[in-house]
Amino acid sequence: MIHMRNIIKSYQLGDQEQIVLKGVDLDVYDGEFVSILGPSGSGKSTMMNIIGCLDTPTSGEYYLSERKIKDLDEKELAHIRSKEIGFVFQQFQLLPRLDATENVELPLIYSGVSVSERRSRAKEMLVKVGLEDRLDYYPNQLSGGQQQRVAIARALSTNPTILLADEPTGALDQKTGHQVMALFRELNEEGRTIIMITHDINIAKNASRTVEILDGNLTGGVVNYD
Ligand code: ATP
Ligand code: MG
Repeated sequence: MIHMRNIIKSYQLGDQEQIVLKGVDLDVYDGEFVSILGPSGSGKSTMMNIIGCLDTPTSGEYYLSERKIKDLDEKELAHIRSKEIGFVFQQFQLLPRLDATENVELPLIYSGVSVSERRSRAKEMLVKVGLEDRLDYYPNQLSGGQQQRVAIARALSTNPTILLADEPTGALDQKTGHQVMALFRELNEEGRTIIMITHDINIAKNASRTVEILDGNLTGGVVNYD
């Protein structure tokens, strides 16, 4: 599903070049739950942005579901970002003036799904994440763990092939974090491909495979299941 080779990402700061990813190789197969583990500043979010087609590498090959990302136009990339990948962030990023159902519906509005269909889809997703009794609660009426569940329901609303999460438990206490991880494992057992970024080895262990990133170098990214 994901095939990356020799991905380099560098930034030009004045006359200095900072290399943030130093030739990363990563394969992720359909149905895997992979965590990318690394300390602060190691390049995790940079990786996530490239995987999610929110940013482009300076050089290297990236294929997503057999398509060479470099060759796609902005319209195709926008389609990937809105339909094929569901994003979950550390800070939930819910809209405060929308209730849980409306937050989950949001990506479906952008995809032109009818009101009745998106409402029922949003409810279905909120039931799935265990929030059937919080459908019309606003973000400030929900706990952090509940807000993250809404964010996960929102990420799943378009039925993406990949769930991409950057420190999804970073703003949660340990117990709530483990509950969110139990939900991730359940989603993965149902067949969803998950890529999760974390600095916490105990959180990383929930995945079926962990790759490590240190100072822009990734280890364990290539496995051969043959
Ligand atoms: P954290 O765990 O703190 O979120 P991270 O592993 O996600 O860290 P990144 O956000 O990927 O780290 O950043 C890696 C390095 O790249 C950092 O040194 C950062 O300063 C640098 N960096 C990231 N984005 C930019 C940018 N737009 N311009 C210049 N440098 C950048
Ligand atoms: Mg980060």
